Amino acid sequence: MSERYSRQTLFPPIGKGGQEKIRSKHVLMIGAGALGSGNAELLVRAGIGRLTIVDRDYVEASNLQRQQLYTEEDVAEKLPKAAAAEKRLKAINSEVAITAMIADATPEKLAELIDGVDLIIDATDNFETRMAINDISQKFRIPWIYGACVGSFGMSFSIIPGKTPCLNCLLKTVPLQGMTCDTGGIIGPAVQMVIAHQGAEALKILVEDWDAVRTSFVSFDLWRNQYTSMKMSKAKDPGCLSCGEHPEYPYLDVENMTKTTVLCGRDTVQIRPPKQQQLNLQDTAEKMKDLGYQVKGNPYLVSVEMDDNRMVIFEDGRALIHGTKDLAQARSIYQRFFG
Ligand SMILES: [Zn+2]
Repeated sequence: MSERYSRQTLFPPIGKGGQEKIRSKHVLMIGAGALGSGNAELLVRAGIGRLTIVDRDYVEASNLQRQQLYTEEDVAEKLPKAAAAEKRLKAINSEVAITAMIADATPEKLAELIDGVDLIIDATDNFETRMAINDISQKFRIPWIYGACVGSFGMSFSIIPGKTPCLNCLLKTVPLQGMTCDTGGIIGPAVQMVIAHQGAEALKILVEDWDAVRTSFVSFDLWRNQYTSMKMSKAKDPGCLSCGEHPEYPYLDVENMTKTTVLCGRDTVQIRPPKQQQLNLQDTAEKMKDLGYQVKGNPYLVSVEMDDNRMVIFEDGRALIHGTKDLAQARSIYQRFFG
């Protein structure tokens, strides 16, 4: 495989030394949707040493338009994205150590996974998780790369603890909360553009070319032909609760985390039990069948058909209730089975 990375090592800012650095690094990818698929594929092809990829969802037909790791077969099997991504990524590069986790990236989960990580890539679709990534990054002094897209619009920013402002600082300047839901649809090129920005920054950070790392906040609209780059050096807030002089890491406070969440742009509510569990999925499936429900499943999840809803249950005790955005209704469906 000596030729495998030749085009990358020929690129002077990387070279053979840079390639060895890439090989020695561990990236934590939060999310395996559109941004996670593309970023993971790019890093695995580039020869990253270790990749941990975390995702809470499974593959659906509407993902295929832009989530480049997945196939119709994954949809038919309802494979969790983390499991489907792992399979595909291992086929692309068997030299990379890949760990896939079917889980919600809660602050506890992030803290559990952070050991030995050199870089975190944000490939989530929600504000709550991004703020938790931001606090974990500051607390453990690990860089992370923010990325988001909706419609034909996208943006990215690299956050280096001790150097750049953090996402919590930026909230005072940039209205980021609105960028969390894909209710306005999305086109593949917008995803690819964010991946290109996040991926290039990742390579710079992995080869430790710190001077090359982008310090501005980049945003673009591919449909309206707009591209902007905002300087952010003045955005750093000394009183910031995440990166300031007396940090409190407010988003790692688990009590702040909602247990019931409407999933981004979908008729789906996620319910997460207060404590992580280890469900026996086979027993769960049997129980549902005994109650007269039509049940489907695979080694990772159980899917239960109801009159107007569908409930998908994962091993960690989480459930996705499809067909509703009503939190109370979703909770009552869940409680019918899990108390
Ligand atoms: Zn800050």
